[in-house]
This record gives sequence, C-alpha cells and structure tokens, in this order.
Amino acid sequence: MPLIPTIGLEVHVQLKTRSKMFCGCAVEFGAEPNTRVCPVCLGYPGALPVMNRAALEMTALTGLMLGCAVPEVCKFDRKNYFYPDMPKNYQITQYDQPLCVGGGVPLNEFAYPKDAQKSIVNPGKTVRLTRIHLEEDVAKSQHFESSTGIDFNRAGTPLMEIVSEPDIASPEEAFAYLIALQQILIYGGVSDADMEKGQLRCDCNVSVAEPGAPLGVKIEIKNMNSISAVRRAVAYEIERQIAAVQKGERLVQSTRRWDDDSAQTFEMRSKESAHDYRYFPDPDLLPVDTSVFMDEVRTRRPELPHEKRDRFVRDFGVTPYDASVLASEKALADYFDAAAKSARKPKNVANWIINDLLSALTTAEKTIVDCPISAHALDELVNLIDAGTISSSQGKEVFAAMFATGAPAAQIVEERGLKQESDSGAIEALCQQAIANSPKAVAEYKAGKLQAINSVKGQVMKLSQGKANPVVVSQVLEKLLAE
Ligand SMILES: [Zn+2]
Repeated sequence: MPLIPTIGLEVHVQLKTRSKMFCGCAVEFGAEPNTRVCPVCLGYPGALPVMNRAALEMTALTGLMLGCAVPEVCKFDRKNYFYPDMPKNYQITQYDQPLCVGGGVPLNEFAYPKDAQKSIVNPGKTVRLTRIHLEEDVAKSQHFESSTGIDFNRAGTPLMEIVSEPDIASPEEAFAYLIALQQILIYGGVSDADMEKGQLRCDCNVSVAEPGAPLGVKIEIKNMNSISAVRRAVAYEIERQIAAVQKGERLVQSTRRWDDDSAQTFEMRSKESAHDYRYFPDPDLLPVDTSVFMDEVRTRRPELPHEKRDRFVRDFGVTPYDASVLASEKALADYFDAAAKSARKPKNVANWIINDLLSALTTAEKTIVDCPISAHALDELVNLIDAGTISSSQGKEVFAAMFATGAPAAQIVEERGLKQESDSGAIEALCQQAIANSPKAVAEYKAGKLQAINSVKGQVMKLSQGKANPVVVSQVLEKLLAE
C-alpha cells in the first residue's frame, strides 16, 4: 500500500499592537536590547498583568476573517515550564477556552507555488482550523562566542497561535495555506506577518500512513522562518518518513529542526522528554466577556483577498490571474480600485499596473505606497490612450516621464508635442503621398497580398513623425486603396 502524508500547521503571529500583552511597554522590532522592559515583562515576583484590549480585539477580528466562532467567554491559563528566556517559569496562554474556535483558510490557486499552479490536486480546498488563541511571546536568546545574552524586548509581545486541523495533504498545500493566511492577516491590519522579522513563525506536524488508516506517528518540525523553507522541509520529511517505514523502522513521536543549508531535518528531542505543562487558570486574570467588544470588531472586518479578486473579475472585467496579482497586496488592491473607478476601460488600467508600473517600481526599489504616479494620474494617462489622444507607444514615453518627474500626463503630452493626429483629412494627405511613393506595395496589395499594406502604413507613420493615429491610418488607407 502507498503511504500518504498528513500535515497540520501551528502558526505563531505577532500582533501589531503598540504595547505588549500584559504591560505598557512598547512593541518595537530592532530596538536596543532590554530597553522596552518593566517589572511585568521581566517576570518580577508580585508584578500584576493587565490585559491588552487591542490584542484581544485583533485576535477576535482574525477569527471573524477566518470564519471562526468567538465564544462568549475565554480565559487565560498558565503553562508551566522552565526556560532561561522566561523568568516567571510559566507562560500566560489559553488552554481549554481559547478566543476563537473552528473556521478555515481557503486556498486559492494563485497562493500555490508558481510551478505547482497547473497541477493542483484539490482545487477550491479550505483547510479547517482547530482554534486561535492568544498568549505572550517569550524573550529572545542571543548566543555569543562563550556566553548567551537574553533580550527581553520581545518578552510579552502579544502572540496569536493559529492551529490547523491535519487537513493539509502536500508541501504545496502547506505553502498555499501560509500565503493565503499571510495575505488575510495583512489585510486585516493585525500583523505585518513578515517571516524574516519573526512576526510569523510556523511549526509543521507531519505524519505518514496508509490511506484510510489512523494517522501515523506525529513528528514536528519547529520554528520554520520562511514559506519556501516550509515547502522544502515538509517535502524532505515526508520522503524521510516513507523511506523509514518502508525499511521497517519504527518512527517515534519527536521534534526536529530544519537546516536549510544541508536541506535536512535533525532530531532535537523525542517524546520521552516531552513536557507536562500543568496548565491551570491564571489567578491574576479574570475570564474575558467577549461580547464587550465583538459588535465593534464586526464593523472592522475588511473585504478579504478572495472577495476582492471576485469583485475585480465581476465589476472590472479583469482576468482571474490579473485579479489575483492586484489583490495579492492590500495597498496595490486599493491603488487599482482607486484608478479603475473612473477609467473608461478598467482592464487597461490593470494591464498598465501589472506590465509597466510594477516593474518600474521594482527597478526603482520602490513600493506601491511610495509610487510617484498616483492612481488618479495613471487613470488620466490610460484614458488619454483609450481616447486615441496619444498612441500606446507614446503612452510608454509619457509613463516613463511621469514616473521620473511626477508630472501629470496631460502636461507631458503638451510639453513634448506628443498629441496623436486623428484628423482623417490631415492623415488622408499623408496616405496619398505614401501611396504615390510605393507603387510596388500598392500593386501587390491590389493583387491580393494584403500584408503589403503594412509597408505603406509604415511610411505614413514616418511622414507623420509617429503622430498619426494608427487605427485611423489603416481605415483611410483601406478606403483609398479600395477605390
Ligand atoms: Zn513590560
């Protein structure tokens, strides 16, 4: 019998609050070590925690975006264990009454790795969630040559843990799950979800079993910090487990780490050393009545990436692929929305953004947020082209000048005398001149070789110094040559 993999992911997300989970210290990435600390987050005996309401609200909002239920009451518990980066010897987290339960992450085809988008096994799949709970992050150890330092700036940062059901069937689905989840978190403004900064961290549970059999032995890969590495690590681990089972080895429940350089996982500890955390309710924190903030949180639910994609296709006639590019980032989606609203042909605005604007931004090392061309200005340019005032090749020139100077399209067209000639009377004179100059091409055309008209058309464009409207030129030439 073939063995099939089962994967579940636990994702830790740092919330984008101004202050920490249980004290007023600032949450700040990259600050001088141990400068954002107080007795509460340093774990001094007797220091009392106070809940951060914004963190509760952001977690509840995440739950709403992911279709979770938010029970009326949640509570905080102590998870007891010893570790140098946690001086209280317990972490405040949520055990049996988390803030959110159920829900799911819809995988869209464009969230899959590019090379896997043509071979999706379960299109339209939603990965179910078990729960989302809220806890505090621990401090960060830094290892030096002969000693270790601990930076408490991170200690107490609000951390949301999103636990999936073991619903994921391949490394590609794990990748798509994380991309789709990351987009939703950024859309909701609950986290920047930057894996490089540790704002989104992922543990992967992987097992293999025969189809229909109970799940195999669960092996966890800890602390993954890039989405493409998750794909590689899970693929490696599936292959390793299948090979081990086929050789007759017995797998044991254990924790492993991924080494990206050697492209292998290594065992860190087996189940024998697993902790007993002795959870109990934190006596310093009362249970939370979520109805206090849920009405307000409901008003903050944004339009989600897949909802935007559908709307762009439906209302603006863009292709599903283009819609997915435009909706991949909230700022980009907002830009397109603003530009498309007053466009004659929103689809053309989408083309300019995807084909020209995004590559210009990449070359200039800018993002859509500091784009020198406003949505309104791009819309004006595209409308000038769509109205036939300038040709699309003139449009490229105007676009480059707009990007460099920030000046509006109409001003650049005026300054450079770029207006396209669409007056058929003026064009007819040029056409007659070109016909007189090209007896051979004209004879060929009249003998039925239709593409011979292109060289005549080229002459007209040359005579007009590129300003003639090519559509009008074709119409006039065809009319004259038919006489
Ligand atoms: Zn503090």
